[in-house]
Amino acid sequence: MSYDTDLLVIGAGSGGVRCARIAASHGARVAVVEGRHWGGTCVNLGCVPKKLLVQASEYADFVQDSHGFGWDTQAGHHDWPAFIASKDREISRLNGIYVSMLEKAGVRLLTGHARFIDAHTVTVAPSELAPEAEPVTLTAEKIVIATGGVPVRPQIEGAEFALTSDEVFHLKERPQRLCIVGGGYIGVEFAGIFAGLGSDVTLVYRQPLPLRGFDEDLRNALAEGIEQRGIRQLAGHEPTRITRNGKELTVHLENGESVIVDQVIFATGRVPKTAGLGLEKTRIRTTGNGRIMVNAHHETDEPDVFAIGDVTDRINLTPVAIAEGHILADRLYGNHARDWSFDTTPKAVFFTPPLASVGLTEEEAAAKGAADIYLSKFRPMRHTIGGRERRTLMKLVVDQASQKVIGAHIYGEDAPEMMQALAIAVTAGLRKNDFDRTIGIHPTSAEEFVTMRTRTRVSGH
Ligand code: NDP
Repeated sequence: MSYDTDLLVIGAGSGGVRCARIAASHGARVAVVEGRHWGGTCVNLGCVPKKLLVQASEYADFVQDSHGFGWDTQAGHHDWPAFIASKDREISRLNGIYVSMLEKAGVRLLTGHARFIDAHTVTVAPSELAPEAEPVTLTAEKIVIATGGVPVRPQIEGAEFALTSDEVFHLKERPQRLCIVGGGYIGVEFAGIFAGLGSDVTLVYRQPLPLRGFDEDLRNALAEGIEQRGIRQLAGHEPTRITRNGKELTVHLENGESVIVDQVIFATGRVPKTAGLGLEKTRIRTTGNGRIMVNAHHETDEPDVFAIGDVTDRINLTPVAIAEGHILADRLYGNHARDWSFDTTPKAVFFTPPLASVGLTEEEAAAKGAADIYLSKFRPMRHTIGGRERRTLMKLVVDQASQKVIGAHIYGEDAPEMMQALAIAVTAGLRKNDFDRTIGIHPTSAEEFVTMRTRTRVSGH
């Protein structure tokens, strides 16, 4: 049977774009359909604008800290609308780059909302990105679903008054009083951003510490850092309802306490975006939260339909989606699929200061066997003169039997930058001795990783 195209990718986010480009480079005829914005969540409503917001929020610290170094600088006023306009220009530039990358690769671009008619046929109807577009129907030999995810709102009374990360990037003005619900990646990052820009931030999360799943020492250091940043932290709490009184919102907590603010942000997780895809017209199965079920080769229950990235809800990180898209395109149309190490996927949370991790936490390592723990907490050089009360924490988790470094964790300035290099060492399975025989770069914070000689403790058995 002949099809309009060899491969149709639904969703032009990080994973879909990589999959389409690589498939096209292998000679496949490829089409991509996108209904919202080229580049997906990461470029438009995630990693990229978030990092710009983090950077914007750090200038006030630089100004304040410069006084210890002899400067008489004054912070002045932050112009939110001007900043958002610059950010939007940058995002438009990146959208253009995504479109031109795909076009240069020879990929056919379709704008609109894709819906399955059957496992090889999709209709593309008008959507947010192309409201006037004529609907088209396309057949494809193979289809990749890369539609990503969407923020989820707790089902409580007044939930509609709260924003999610989707709206925050386009706020007309910066809220002066803000309540953020959720102590995960997004909650912690937005708390840092808005506190840095001068808002009064209350962070409400239901665990005793933020960032469930991260190393306990890191979580404790972060909780301290959140406090030091002037963020009000309500740990072990959950909102039960939100009420509005004029321009004010009140977040009511389960213990009867309440927080009065100008805006509320729900940062309570994301779910796969499958609504309106017409999956019922196929044999594809989803889990309770809508995750498309795939095997290790990204195959769904339909032999020619695949799914990658956040819509499969495994590790919800851009570089993981990119790797999955790349592997799949190589496997379908290339000679060999590159080998990627998903087990040692590094992670970073861009608070100020940020934190980053790779490999096992102390708790995970201890559950598997004896682990040597090396821990260092110090005040970075910049803050000794700058005067800021801010500590850096660095930690290595070493498997005692093999002496392999199986986990590395940092809370402090430049943590994500350092972690990318450390992730290579952990992926390569290097031993503590390899760290010890590496010469440091002085004076840096990173040199601590090659000078931690004395074991802090043994964990596990
Ligand atoms: P996370 O899963 O990281 O965190 C969700 C938070 O919301 C948790 O603290 C969770 O608590 C809490 N929560 C969930 N449901 C409720 C509820 N009904 N009431 C109160 N609290 C609730 O999700 P995020 O939204 O922060 O981010 C989504 C994903 O996006 C991340 O997991 C990550 O994969 C990705 N991301 C990555 C970033 C990066 O790489 N820097 C940045 C931003 C997002 P509990 O722990 O108790 O479940």
